[in-house]
Amino acid sequence: MKTIINQITFILLLFVTQLSAQDTTTWYKVTEVADNTWLIDDNGNDNIYLVEGKDSALLIDTGIGVADLISTVKKITDKPLIMVVTHGHPDHAGANYQFEKVYAHQNDFDAVKMFGNVSTSKSTLRSMAEEDRPAEKRRFNSKAKKTVLLPVSDGYIFDLGGRKIQVMETPGHTPGGICLMDIKNKLLFSGDNNNSLVWLFLDGCLPLSEYLKTLEMQVLRINEFTTLYPGHGPAMSSNFIKEQIECVKAILDESCESEPYHSFAGESKICKHGNAQVAYNPDNL
Ligand SMILES: [Zn+2]
Repeated sequence: MKTIINQITFILLLFVTQLSAQDTTTWYKVTEVADNTWLIDDNGNDNIYLVEGKDSALLIDTGIGVADLISTVKKITDKPLIMVVTHGHPDHAGANYQFEKVYAHQNDFDAVKMFGNVSTSKSTLRSMAEEDRPAEKRRFNSKAKKTVLLPVSDGYIFDLGGRKIQVMETPGHTPGGICLMDIKNKLLFSGDNNNSLVWLFLDGCLPLSEYLKTLEMQVLRINEFTTLYPGHGPAMSSNFIKEQIECVKAILDESCESEPYHSFAGESKICKHGNAQVAYNPDNL
């Protein structure tokens, strides 16, 4: 009897192992987008980036957290890893539970703690992922690490060896939102601050006028970076920020013909201007 149970257990373990291996390879799509710079597509939900220097590699955002991110990253680089999240939302900090240390801005610590755990990652998947992918859902790592959050603020530099990545504070979408600038290569990893569609209607978003100040600061520094690598969607020219400014100004001076905007996160209004779109709360201008 005992032998039969052992055999069944072995077969089940074999089945689960094969399933897990398949899930990890199907969930993430890895593309080298610049020298020693990779986009890890989180199954179409968000963008994770991996930036490698001579001594270490920086993982920018951890995504929703439904698959084995560490194994995916280790296939790309064997350098020591540093993790940083652009902000605390669950589609960017959702795999924090897989890491022991993650850098973030202190003003987003509460959100990072709230969203960076397994149970929130599960509910995020239910609300965000369009397809029902039961196999991937089983990939949640039940052995969650107790993640230590380390603070970064404006000007902080991650020195990866021959490659320096500088923190740029960009409050608006969240109070502790940051962008990460690759100084030498003039790349800006912009999280949800510079997306083709930016959400400013969520609880915790700063007033639109504060977000405008962030965009204007970025334009003052626009000679420092040429390409935006956003948290969602394809790379864009840094000049896109000027379109974002026009969009926000059009909302504030009431010249935009805004429309209702519906999403799983709530109802709001949206202004479209050029290639920029901003979804906002009319009561939080
Ligand atoms: Zn966000």
